[in-house]
Amino acid sequence: MHRDARSIPEILRQLESLYGKQEPGWPSDPYDFLVWWHCGYPASDTSCAKGWEKLNSEVGVEPRQLLAAGAARLARVLKAGGMVPELRAMRLMEIAARIQDEYGGDLRAGLAGPLSKVRQALKRFPNIADPGADRILLFGGIAPVPAVPSNCPHVLVRIQRGQERENYGVTYREAQEAIEAEIPKNFDARTRAYLLVKRHGQTVCKRRNPECENCPISSSCAFFAANTAAVAPV
Ligand code: SF4
Repeated sequence: MHRDARSIPEILRQLESLYGKQEPGWPSDPYDFLVWWHCGYPASDTSCAKGWEKLNSEVGVEPRQLLAAGAARLARVLKAGGMVPELRAMRLMEIAARIQDEYGGDLRAGLAGPLSKVRQALKRFPNIADPGADRILLFGGIAPVPAVPSNCPHVLVRIQRGQERENYGVTYREAQEAIEAEIPKNFDARTRAYLLVKRHGQTVCKRRNPECENCPISSSCAFFAANTAAVAPV
């Protein structure tokens, strides 16, 4: 194996030749993303897109439109995105009220200043932890942080280290460190990395039961090497 086979640029090159160029399936504007994220549950590109489409066509997504609709109507519309629509409706109302009251209706303009403060502000919104804040910072064009898809932090860690950690936060941090070390600090390079890792983690390198036998990059993967060696006949 070439000694750089497990470098992230090489892994991404292989993933891109397999999956093609990836595009985000969600809005990049920070406020729109917050709304989109609450449009589906369990949150996925598909469920959120269904709820988002319905919300756009029947109510609109501007803060004043959400507040004017009220929680009961929002809940009826949000059923298109899956479970707990009443709870998601309440959260959308909360988000809309805060955008009006604390940001004068313009969240993007309010996300200025030191990165730590912007991150803190994002994490005050419901259902936004570090992975969500990183995603908004990167795709919203605020800072080229090493964001990692929240449901796929294991992918790069398995490939490079052989096994993800039991602690989610440690795995997420290790994946971030790998991107920070190997991927140029610009928006194009880091959004490309995010999207390719996400695609691979959702289709082949799943958190449970990765399909290693069908994985086209298994020859570059430390997890595969370790597990193949463990079952090799003697
Ligand atoms: S070989 Fe298995 S663990 Fe490694 S990247 Fe492919 S699916 Fe993931």
